[in-house]
Amino acid sequence: MALESSVTQDDVPLKAKSRSSIRRRLEEREQRLSPYAAKSSQSAGREIPEPPSDVRTEYQRDRDRIIHSKAFRRLKHKTQVFIAPLGDHYVTRLTHTLEVSQIARTIARALNLNEDLAEAIALGHDLGHTPFGHIGEDELDKILSDGFRHSSQSLNIVERVEREGRGLNLTWEVRQGILMHSKPRGDFLAALDNDITLEAQIVRISDAVAYINHDLADAFRAGILSDKDLPASVADTLGCRHSERIDTIVCDIIDHSYHVSGLADSTTGTNGAQPEPSLSIRMGDSVRTAFMELREFMFDTVYLPNDDSPEGETARRIVRFLYGYFGERHNEVPPEYAQRSRSPEEAVVDYVSGMTDLYAIRLAEKLSPGIAKTFSERLL
Ligand code: MG
Repeated sequence: MALESSVTQDDVPLKAKSRSSIRRRLEEREQRLSPYAAKSSQSAGREIPEPPSDVRTEYQRDRDRIIHSKAFRRLKHKTQVFIAPLGDHYVTRLTHTLEVSQIARTIARALNLNEDLAEAIALGHDLGHTPFGHIGEDELDKILSDGFRHSSQSLNIVERVEREGRGLNLTWEVRQGILMHSKPRGDFLAALDNDITLEAQIVRISDAVAYINHDLADAFRAGILSDKDLPASVADTLGCRHSERIDTIVCDIIDHSYHVSGLADSTTGTNGAQPEPSLSIRMGDSVRTAFMELREFMFDTVYLPNDDSPEGETARRIVRFLYGYFGERHNEVPPEYAQRSRSPEEAVVDYVSGMTDLYAIRLAEKLSPGIAKTFSERLL
């Protein structure tokens, strides 16, 4: 009887040489995506060239670097809209980011585009957000002579601040998508974004789909709004339930953007690429009108009133105080920020904008007792 080897096929390690075939297989899979999809093998690359990973594409590698960053971990304790809410079920900047990623991946996959690129951009898009959400951003924007935008700061973080100042060295497509994600008030869907990748366009629109819907749900949770406050035209078009509204919008985006998939339309038998449409991610007219109406409704009933709330006022005071305090005492800024910045002023901006809500509240209260009273009575 022949002796059986005790080494099974499973025990044989994959040789490093063959392991690199995994990345090549993943890259070949990308070649079967839409002709309009961004392909990692054709990336414009990184500032500092690096040898490729054996088992991940360049965009998958960027996604992983973002998830492992310190700025990503801090998102857990940063406000979305409601500042330092007492309930555990409110959206934070981290859960917002995960919702954007999930929506963006769904749309990218449905449209035969690069899901990994959309995911990496989505996970990195809000890394530069200040404490206290839009209020903190607005306050820094007023204080700084060059202004402050969280999208630019997200780029600063991945290019200059993370990894002890070396940055994450991400690909050009991910950095561009992070920088271009934010949207002004008004009909941002009217402006076509042909100069950015379709995956970046998906994240831009998914960001709005996520925040409009989860902020509405949080406003219901906080008792600021009730179901009956929702404009009838919005409920009629988008639906009465949270999941229904997201599903309606996401499916509408997929339907009206299908021309970018490079696939034949299964319902009409036509090829979406003929006649050549402008390559953009879009919504149909009726959903777009309802979506914009809902966005304006949120500005009027939730976002702007929230800015003027006692918590909003205290948040502004804290950001102003911390910026002023460290602006006059550069030597008290933690040395790691000074090492990563090009000037002492930049180190102050990196430090203050990078704080979580709770860190900012505690530090301000320690340095100026009573300043954070609105929060400190219930949080500290
Ligand atoms: Mg966002």
